Amino acid sequence: MAGTAPLPPGSTIGILGGGQLGRMLAMAAVQLGYRCVGYAPAGDNVAASACDDFFENGWGDNAALAAFASQCDVVTWEFENVPLSAVESIPANLLVPDPKALKVAQDRLNEKRFVEELRAKCAPYMRVESDDDFARALERVGTPGILKTARDGYDGKGQWRIASVHEAEGVRFPGQACIYEGMVNFETEFSVILARAADGTVRMWDSSANTHEGGMLVHSVLPAGPVVESQVGAAREIAEKTANALNYVGVLTLEFFATAQGPIFNEMAPRVHNSGHWTIEGAATGQFENHIRAICGLPLGGTETRFASIDMRNIVGEDALSAHEILAEDGEPHLHLYGKREARAGRKMGHVTRVSHKTPSQDGA
Ligand code: AMP
Repeated sequence: MAGTAPLPPGSTIGILGGGQLGRMLAMAAVQLGYRCVGYAPAGDNVAASACDDFFENGWGDNAALAAFASQCDVVTWEFENVPLSAVESIPANLLVPDPKALKVAQDRLNEKRFVEELRAKCAPYMRVESDDDFARALERVGTPGILKTARDGYDGKGQWRIASVHEAEGVRFPGQACIYEGMVNFETEFSVILARAADGTVRMWDSSANTHEGGMLVHSVLPAGPVVESQVGAAREIAEKTANALNYVGVLTLEFFATAQGPIFNEMAPRVHNSGHWTIEGAATGQFENHIRAICGLPLGGTETRFASIDMRNIVGEDALSAHEILAEDGEPHLHLYGKREARAGRKMGHVTRVSHKTPSQDGA
């Protein structure tokens, strides 16, 4: 961001990436009187319909990136796998957060080392760059475990679960740097989502309990229950130290496993996060709005939870075709559909947040 004065209404925010996170960021930005310009390679760029302008160009197209940047007063991203070469071709004074966060988060090994220095606990892991490394990692880390590509994974893609050494015989090193990590026996998963302003002010949302299927988040609920509540303090400390160490500005997410040994760090996302979608209706200020506020130099909004119970469920694949039926439900279902053209199996098409002033026990659940 050029200077530290707040960006006035009518300024232009550039968003790298064209998915649903970009779409919801743009919707929040437009509400605050900003213009948005998106940039992503050709594809089903659902952020485009929420942006004033959208560049469909490759990450290697420096002329298009320069034309995009020339329209922007600040540039952020909705997707942590934007190639660094593309990010670094944009004038550094426009980029918020600092791309240092991308450098750390784009490689699972870097990310684990970074948080370990801040005293976070991780599952045992080893870098794997060959079949021999893989054999050594199986021996030292043991089974069950997960082989994950070090880079470019998301929603459980680029991961191979290995229940036993016998099963590992069928898995070959996939030819790109990986990490093999021990399977964590967790009670539940949760994330810490925070917003940090340029002056160092940090606000955190309550942590939901998150459920994944096949490596992809499907469900987040609040209250998260006593296990998460007893571990969230330690996890928040790590998250805040991470944000400060990166001099981060914007919304940052750290995912944890809640275990009998306390919180174990899983991964970080230097961006808004699926497990924070409930904050749009469920918190005083949603994650998308606070990211926009932070990167534009506006004061952060409060992050307090506004309901006694909140349930966010992703709408995946063909379920989206009948999603409007949700609107006939009693209560307060808040439906978000992302406008994706093709309802492929396993594809996040939308989400619904159900809020209630009653706790789950008062509801008889
Ligand atoms: P990731 O892409 O690393 O966040 O993994 C996606 C999901 O897979 C996590 O949210 C967990 O549900 C599961 N998972 C990943 N790594 C582990 C692990 N070491 N132990 C147990 N479950 C894991």
